[in-house]
Amino acid sequence: MSSSIATAKSIAENLVVLPQMTEMGHEQIVFCNDNSTGLKSIIGIHNTTLGPALGGTRVWAYTSEVEALRDVLRLSRGMTYKSAISGINLGGGKAVIIADPKTKKGEAFWRRYGKFVNSLGGKYITAEDVGTSPGDMVHIAMETKHVAGKPAYLGGTGDPSPVTAYGVFLGIKASVKELTGSDDLSGKTVSVQGVGHVGQYLVEHLCKAGAEVTICDINENNIKLVCDKNKVNVVAPEDIYKVNSLIYAPCALGATVNDHTLEILNCAIIAGAANNQLEDEVKHGNYLLEKGIIYAPDFLINAGGVINCYTEVIGVNRDMAVGLTENIYAKTLEIFKTSKEQNITTQKAAMLLAEQRIEQVAKIKAVL
Ligand code: NAD
Repeated sequence: MSSSIATAKSIAENLVVLPQMTEMGHEQIVFCNDNSTGLKSIIGIHNTTLGPALGGTRVWAYTSEVEALRDVLRLSRGMTYKSAISGINLGGGKAVIIADPKTKKGEAFWRRYGKFVNSLGGKYITAEDVGTSPGDMVHIAMETKHVAGKPAYLGGTGDPSPVTAYGVFLGIKASVKELTGSDDLSGKTVSVQGVGHVGQYLVEHLCKAGAEVTICDINENNIKLVCDKNKVNVVAPEDIYKVNSLIYAPCALGATVNDHTLEILNCAIIAGAANNQLEDEVKHGNYLLEKGIIYAPDFLINAGGVINCYTEVIGVNRDMAVGLTENIYAKTLEIFKTSKEQNITTQKAAMLLAEQRIEQVAKIKAVL
């Protein structure tokens, strides 16, 4: 078979949607197209047992439809686990828009997208993600009420990053307690990869707690913002894995815990904000378990953002979001305990806890 035929065959196989939905357990995938605005989007609804599927809309210059589909399938499933383990009544969903995030989209584009979201009748609630801003949510809100992360003047809770960062900070404290018996961070070394929205707030918490923080970012402005406010060490992005820190906190990209980085990383704890940190959940999760490196599951400790959106959806204030986010500390310790007792990875232990809640709630929903 020539390589071009083989590539075409592999693309065709990956575009077969229903078998992938069956394997991953998705309820609905919606393809949206609008020729006048150029909008091309895929909305993924994974599971609505606990409530409407909430998850942000990611704008990304995907190189193919296959890549976009894979991302929305994976991300929407992740949201099901994140909301379930956080004890909130939301299902898992996510949307992707195939477009360059750097190009301005405009009112018509976002309103057309809002109409697609609205056509789902509240089964999917959108919010911000990579490539979208509170301003985009304002335009979406002109066409649908099923949008969270709106600015305060529209009754929204705005940027969820401070709440996310607080949850990650608590996840780090719980991890240190697991390692040392105390959650005192003074003098503990932390490498923070990426000081964007979440990373900047996280660094503030860590510095206030007396940790010695090393940061990196590909964006010099963000480095400057952090250095102006905090006393931190700065390294080049490619050197972050080589820093000899107790804690590695990935707050930029997913899949940074992989074959390559695990050869270089010299840390006792991995706990950060990025989604899907383990490139291969099973392989790299098992590696960390065998080596005794403590891994705080990402979807557990970075749930502050979705918790914040939940409070907006049910119409209560941010105090409740902070209160619910505080549960992350105890839940992280519980996951470590289960992982040890059952000799399973912390990722697996967290997934089991989330699945248990969905199963139990599904049963009580069946009765009046
Ligand atoms: P952001 O885009 O504001 O910040 C990411 C930062 O990482 C940017 O400053 C960027 O320049 C930097 N970066 C990108 N590639 C890098 C690299 N190779 N090395 C070093 N730095 C790099 O995003 P954010 O909102 O702060 O989110 C950070 C991570 O946390 C993302 O993975 C996101 O999906 C996840 N997350 C965010 C929230 C939230 O509330 N914002 C909630 C849950 C999960």
